[in-house]
Amino acid sequence: MAIRDILIWPNPILATKAEPVVTIDEDLKRVALDMVETMYAARGIGLAANQIGITKRLVVIDLNSEEDEEHDPALGPHIFINPVITAREGSVLWEEGCLSVPGEVGDVERSANITLCYNDLNGDEITVDASELMAVCIQHELDHLNGVVFPERMHDRSRAREIRLAMKSFKSS
Ligand SMILES: [Zn+2]
Repeated sequence: MAIRDILIWPNPILATKAEPVVTIDEDLKRVALDMVETMYAARGIGLAANQIGITKRLVVIDLNSEEDEEHDPALGPHIFINPVITAREGSVLWEEGCLSVPGEVGDVERSANITLCYNDLNGDEITVDASELMAVCIQHELDHLNGVVFPERMHDRSRAREIRLAMKSFKSS
């Protein structure tokens, strides 16, 4: 596995709509495992393939905190291929951050409960219900696949502009 560079918003690849995954081959599995490793190295809880420059519909999520010795498999790591939200209910305001928007957070309105369909690495089709942080994180990552980054969803437009300006002066180390 390898740690990949994470693109910083507003990189144009982050505004690109990702293409469906057609074949789940060794290359795709390697990318997925690299994404998990990259997410852990950056201390994030989710990563979309766009964020490492690959415009395919592939997302990884792990809500386990790094201090936990035993990972709860319900919290991750999850690898979602061609994820689609098939049902939504309620709404929730959540303070979000993003590995592509380092050091910044903002409130975003999301659906409170969702149903997600996706393929796993075996190509099996899976349907799960999610709520709270898992639902928010899935919606955040699926936005990436559609070329949307969280400041673009913020109701506070002046704060979103401040974040965009802060990113212009951000230099990746
Ligand atoms: Zn993000």
